[in-house]
Amino acid sequence: MAFQSVKGFKDILPPESEAMTSLELAARDVLRAFGYREIRIPTLETRELFVKSVGETTDIVEKEMFQLEDAGGRHLVLRPEGTAGVVRAYLEHSLSQQGGRTKLFYIGSMFRAERPQKGRFREFEQIGLECFGNGHAAGDVEAILALSYVLDRAGLKGAYSIKLNNLGDEKPECRPAYRASLLAFFETVKDELCEHCRSRMARNPLRVLDCKGDGPKLKANPALPTLVPCGDCRTHFDTVKALLENESVAYELDGSLVRGLDYYTRTVFEFRSTDVGAQDAIAGGGRYDGLVKAMGGPETPAVGWAIGVERTRLAIAAKAHAEAPRGVDVYVAAQSDAAGLVGLAMGLLQSLRRQGRSAEGALFGHSLKAQLREADRLGARLAVIFGQEEFAGRTCLLKDMRVKDSQEVVAIADVLEKLNRTLGAMS
Ligand SMILES: [Zn+2]
Ligand SMILES: [Zn+2]
Repeated sequence: MAFQSVKGFKDILPPESEAMTSLELAARDVLRAFGYREIRIPTLETRELFVKSVGETTDIVEKEMFQLEDAGGRHLVLRPEGTAGVVRAYLEHSLSQQGGRTKLFYIGSMFRAERPQKGRFREFEQIGLECFGNGHAAGDVEAILALSYVLDRAGLKGAYSIKLNNLGDEKPECRPAYRASLLAFFETVKDELCEHCRSRMARNPLRVLDCKGDGPKLKANPALPTLVPCGDCRTHFDTVKALLENESVAYELDGSLVRGLDYYTRTVFEFRSTDVGAQDAIAGGGRYDGLVKAMGGPETPAVGWAIGVERTRLAIAAKAHAEAPRGVDVYVAAQSDAAGLVGLAMGLLQSLRRQGRSAEGALFGHSLKAQLREADRLGARLAVIFGQEEFAGRTCLLKDMRVKDSQEVVAIADVLEKLNRTLGAMS
């Protein structure tokens, strides 16, 4: 039997691979404008890194990590998310000592052993950013703006909604008080909770809101307590909202939005496609002022987010419906593989490619008819045919593939210039 890819892992073929690249390029462009620089972090990290950062009681750490042990008995995992690795790198290379803000973005695969479903695979790509050293509400807003510009540039303008919540901080009257009131509430509905939630609710009641089974039920319960933030957290969040309104960014408040990671403080946000079924989150993030210190670094405010590339692609495809695949610019055909024709065809192909034009052809040994069929299949805009008879008169034929029976005789010496002129007029 032939080999098959592993369950939950997939090949990404053209044109999907190209669509993902164009999303990545849009992100690179926007993030450069926002002052972010690229970091590349390893795929493999220690298990302990994610226990410490993402949180022991999260679904990710409890059951979704791909784990392995190396020959030295070290517990390693394929990274399930990007922030932990970026924070590790930030500390390992003392980037904080450069002073000011450190703004980094990454693009790469993450791995989670989830049940495969539409738009969700065990290896999936994230585009993410982290900004260290800006504790002001303007930092949250800048991150949210960067995310919305990336999605707008990628073709999703007007096709997503933004959910916003304030998770408070660790001052006793803030999140700890919220945790206590959540726990008291969960005690009253304990019998309705799944076994997993009953066992973890005392350790981390916020996680119960994330439970795929219990979460929606609890969120519909009007008695579910909401966070009453301390004065500082309230001011911070009010400023975030005012600055977003100032930028005409629409958002909805969602008191039950907690995100699946433990490290968030104050602002958390989620971008949901209004096109994909079940209004899936396509991106999300938030502020995590305590994480760098918790991982052994200096007190450092930080904010970040990640885009799920596959799900964002689904949303873009749903919006764009059938995107016309972009064909090659020029197809170069030759009537035979006589030496003169081969040289001409190869020469013209390379001249076009050197100029950055996409060009295909020179399928020597195949009939002219077969070559033009390939040109059709590749969606070529123009075709050049080097024929025996024309060659004698130092000419060739130029066809506009989108116009039936179009054909023009062009001097071989002028064909490159003529192609460039025609393509320039077409685009
Ligand atoms: Zn549950
Ligand atoms: Zn607070």
